[in-house]
Amino acid sequence: MNRDFVYSGSPAHIIFGEGKSALAGEWVEKIGCKKALVLSTSQQQADAEVLAKRLGPLSAGVFAGAVMHTPVDVTEKAMEVVARTGADCVVSLGGGSTTGLGKAIAYRIDLPQIVIPTTYAGSEVTPILGQTEGGRKTTVRHPSILPEVVIYDPALTLGLPLGMSINSGLNAMAHAVEALYAQDRNPISTLMAVEGLHAFKTSLPKIAESPRNIGVRADAIYGAWLCGAVLGTVGMALHHKICHTLGGTFDTPHAETHAIMLPHTAGYNATAVPELLAPVAEIFGGSVGGGLWDFAKEAGAPLALKDLGLSEPDLDRAAEIATENPYWNPRPVDRRSIRDLLQDAWEGNRPAR
Ligand code: NAD
Repeated sequence: MNRDFVYSGSPAHIIFGEGKSALAGEWVEKIGCKKALVLSTSQQQADAEVLAKRLGPLSAGVFAGAVMHTPVDVTEKAMEVVARTGADCVVSLGGGSTTGLGKAIAYRIDLPQIVIPTTYAGSEVTPILGQTEGGRKTTVRHPSILPEVVIYDPALTLGLPLGMSINSGLNAMAHAVEALYAQDRNPISTLMAVEGLHAFKTSLPKIAESPRNIGVRADAIYGAWLCGAVLGTVGMALHHKICHTLGGTFDTPHAETHAIMLPHTAGYNATAVPELLAPVAEIFGGSVGGGLWDFAKEAGAPLALKDLGLSEPDLDRAAEIATENPYWNPRPVDRRSIRDLLQDAWEGNRPAR
């Protein structure tokens, strides 16, 4: 067996446990800061205000303007608040959209970030920032973007609506599945990916039964950390390329798009690297794509791209964009096979492989 690999550990501090978001102030001081601007979306403003109040004199207030896709004009508004309040760090409370805003600020002025994630998207443990300007989304990777501290507090995920929990979990699982066949995978990324998939296999069906069970929520956010961490360390392939194409060009919702596409992209690649995807077949049962599709269906996830407002003719354009400048993928991609794959995902068919 070839044992050559490169492994670079993340320098971030990861704090895990129920109620641990109460330690945010302690961590502001531990990283040498004095004034934290709390970031959130408008939907989570009330929670952000509670957190700012708890920070007391360490709070520089709340900016509750975070929105999906990190538009540059929102970042500029937040930067004005940073300058006006003299904030020397940010505390991002929320999902990938809020984390994205904190990362965008850090990328510009290298402000330290503490993130308290409330979804399973995994952005908090990656040095990657996607931002939009003039309708175009660009992605940058830089060490300044990686948050310094992440506090995973399952109590803050209890209110994540059921549908969002399932889709966000499948979004995270897609990072893990692609990490299993990444060109630059290493033994640690593979261990983390498999453990992350196990965590979601156990927790997502139980969340559907009892969304306010803290132990189950802890299992899910543990999975989110593992899956996000591998997204931050190894390269992604066909699945992420297609999801970026659909989200970027057709504005399909982020987590739902990942949830629908995962069984199809995994099934497509299973024919090329069955041995690398064997853990997926073992964990979910049956074939790689079929097992993931059955799991998603039982959890109540959306299964068809047509339900996201995508029209059938859009699939031609999507196949063209996804294949004109493809990411590396273990199975060669061509426009015809990707168009067929998209057709199956559009109709909501169960993948054979
Ligand atoms: P999100 O952050 O957009 O959240 C969706 C909605 O749910 C928001 O209104 C939010 O306020 C609300 N919400 C979040 N947590 C909640 C909770 N616990 N209770 C109630 N409401 C809650 O969704 P997301 O899927 O986490 O993030 C998507 C964004 O993150 C996309 O822009 C995507 O590109 C980005 N992302 C980036 C990376 C990266 O590494 N750069 C990784 C994954 C996702």
